[in-house]
Amino acid sequence: MISSNKLASDEQPPAQGALRRTLSRLLPVGFAVVGIGLSMVLGHLDAKREQSEEVANLAARLSGVRGALEAQLRAAFAEAEGIAQLISTDGRISDSHFHGMARDALASVSYMHHIALAPADVVVDVYPRDGNERILGLDYRGLPEQMPLLASAREREEPVLAGPLALYQGGRALVYRRPVFISGKRGVKFYWGNISIVADIDRLLLAAGLRPETGFELAVRGSDGKGAEGAMIWGDEQLFEHALVTSSVQVPGGFWQLAAEPRGGWSGLSLFCSPLFLFALSCTGLFSLFVAQLNRKQRLLELRNSELHQYQVQLERLAHYDTITGLPNRVLFQQQLSEGIAQGHGLAVLMLDIDGFKQVNDSLGHPMGDLLLQQATARFLQELDSQDRVCRLGGDEFVFMLQGAQGQVNHQVRALLRCLQRPFDLNGNASLVTGSIGLAWCPQHGEDVDSLLRHADTAMYAAKESGRNAWRPYQAEMTDRLHQRLELERNLRRALECNEFELWYQPKVDLFSGRLEGVEALLRWRDPEHGLVSPAEFIPLAERTGLIIPLGERVLELACQQLADWRAGDGLPGPLAINVAALQIERSDYVTSLASALERHDLPASLLEVEITESLLMESQQQACAVLSQLQAMGVATAVDDFGTGYSSLAYLRALPIDHLKIDRAFIKDLPDDDDAVAIARAIVDLGHALGFRITAEGIETQEQYDFLRNAGCDHGQGFLLGRPMPAADLQRWMAQYPVHKRQR
Ligand code: C2E
Ligand code: MG
Ligand code: MG
Repeated sequence: MISSNKLASDEQPPAQGALRRTLSRLLPVGFAVVGIGLSMVLGHLDAKREQSEEVANLAARLSGVRGALEAQLRAAFAEAEGIAQLISTDGRISDSHFHGMARDALASVSYMHHIALAPADVVVDVYPRDGNERILGLDYRGLPEQMPLLASAREREEPVLAGPLALYQGGRALVYRRPVFISGKRGVKFYWGNISIVADIDRLLLAAGLRPETGFELAVRGSDGKGAEGAMIWGDEQLFEHALVTSSVQVPGGFWQLAAEPRGGWSGLSLFCSPLFLFALSCTGLFSLFVAQLNRKQRLLELRNSELHQYQVQLERLAHYDTITGLPNRVLFQQQLSEGIAQGHGLAVLMLDIDGFKQVNDSLGHPMGDLLLQQATARFLQELDSQDRVCRLGGDEFVFMLQGAQGQVNHQVRALLRCLQRPFDLNGNASLVTGSIGLAWCPQHGEDVDSLLRHADTAMYAAKESGRNAWRPYQAEMTDRLHQRLELERNLRRALECNEFELWYQPKVDLFSGRLEGVEALLRWRDPEHGLVSPAEFIPLAERTGLIIPLGERVLELACQQLADWRAGDGLPGPLAINVAALQIERSDYVTSLASALERHDLPASLLEVEITESLLMESQQQACAVLSQLQAMGVATAVDDFGTGYSSLAYLRALPIDHLKIDRAFIKDLPDDDDAVAIARAIVDLGHALGFRITAEGIETQEQYDFLRNAGCDHGQGFLLGRPMPAADLQRWMAQYPVHKRQR
């Protein structure tokens, strides 16, 4: 029906956006997983490299130990060879010779304990004797723990290294047993016996560099040269369990096994000790964090961009739509209208003003006024076709662009007026309003946005002036009238500056006694060019332009001045009624102005009476009510003027601070012949009295009207029959003649 906001076309589909958001959220996690994997691989390789370096280092050190051990063993047992060589030639060696050689050997090898000669495996000599006497005569064949090894040496004709053994003399020792053979005739070999060299194993190992404080853990096994089969010789047996670095030491008749491990275990074996792994892991962490942060910033940026998009949409709405009704505003409507004009099919522009909207706002409050606008909008939309447009210009003004043919548009205009006449339900308050519509046709009344809107507006004012609840098509004369009004406005301003205003006075009489009750001040403008101008011509304009405020002040001043003059001259015609416009009450401190005018001229308040028209009273109830009650309290009488034209009820007026009702001339002019007029006049008089008002009839022109009203009980009357409005000087003359006049009737 009515065009609404266009969705931004560049917006992403929600599913795609959600997928993108999930992916970007997973991105840092992905980086972390891949990074940790790579770090582990790198770390693992690094640990392996470290470990092999460590193994190689240790192996090199272990081979040093092995070399030292083998050297020590060789040094320790080499002496046996010389002695064995000597014996093997003829099966003998002199005691002195043996002792001499043994002494030299013991002197050169500090940890050598003793050397023993055992022909036929029975010890016959030992050096040194001291401390070793116990072994002289020892028969190895009676030693089951030593014999098998000795037997194998004999069999293989090679020396063996037994031990470590516990020595009879105490301590732990290695025993080098060298089988000795004597070569007989024809190359036959005879077993002679053995030479044993006993060395302190712990000192030997120490000499080879095996110390507890070595930079690494070391273990030696292979007692009796049995290698892995042999018992532990030195160090912790557990080193052999997962030994990565091992080595063999050749010993006579077999070998020893060495195992080494860095002190405190293998450092390079742990992944978490790899600097490369830790470095790669830190890099991964930092990079993932960086990506996550980047992602977050990106997401924040995206979020802001949507936020921004929403603001744009909101701004777009604010710039082009009315917040109360949701209708396009003036800016958008002007675009729509110029597009409509460009199509060249012809169209109608309607300006609609809701009559009585101000009362709703004043009496029920702005929220109810807004509700009425919304309900009215809903009703309007039902009367429009899809190609029609409507906008709210502001306040209670709407403008329409109707694109149908003339007959259809006329029909729609009437429907719009009708739809407003149905009561509005404003949260339980029934409200009645009407509409005034001005209509301008394109192209007859204008071919551009401005002139069409202007002409529709001019026509709408004509509809309002015609009495509201009406519509008027634009006519060129309306613009002429508008120009006249503008001219009039200029002249009015000048008139105010030049004091061209004066008051005329119309008598008000008591219909029973015929006594003069007072006078009403009626404003006149003595225009130097046009002569006397009636208030009916300039008061409405003064009200629309706000000039009524200074004008009203002028009236107050003139009225009070006149009262003061009459008092001074002893020709007071009674209280003086002045007319007041709604705007004066709404926009100025009227009570204060009035009080100060009275004070300036030293007048009692009872000499003034204030008239406010019924329709204006209805338009500005709250303020008017407050002002009227203040005036009453001061002693100023109050009157409702033109009663019967403003749709108020008597019961309603009763609640207002009012003393007099003035029946509008419209109800008097058809008296006494028109039955309706008679009924209305009687009803107003009777009901008005019942509610405590004094009733005045306006516009009495005939004696019949006078008589009827008098008989109907109306209190006072005004009219040409009794006296026309006249300048003050004329009034004095009129008053002088009046009793005569009265007597004549
Ligand atoms: P109103 O207050 O109802 O005044 C009565 C109008 O009816 C006056 O017209 C008066 O000349 C006219 N009139 C009185 N008797 C008869 C009669 O027998 N026959 C006919 N045909 N007319 C009669 P006027 O003076 O032209 O004033 C018109 C309206 O202008 C007043 O109506 C009042 O509403 C407004 N007005 C006049 N003076 C002032 C003023 O000082 N301030 C304001 N705000 N409005 C004023
Ligand atoms: Mg009046
Ligand atoms: Mg009147």
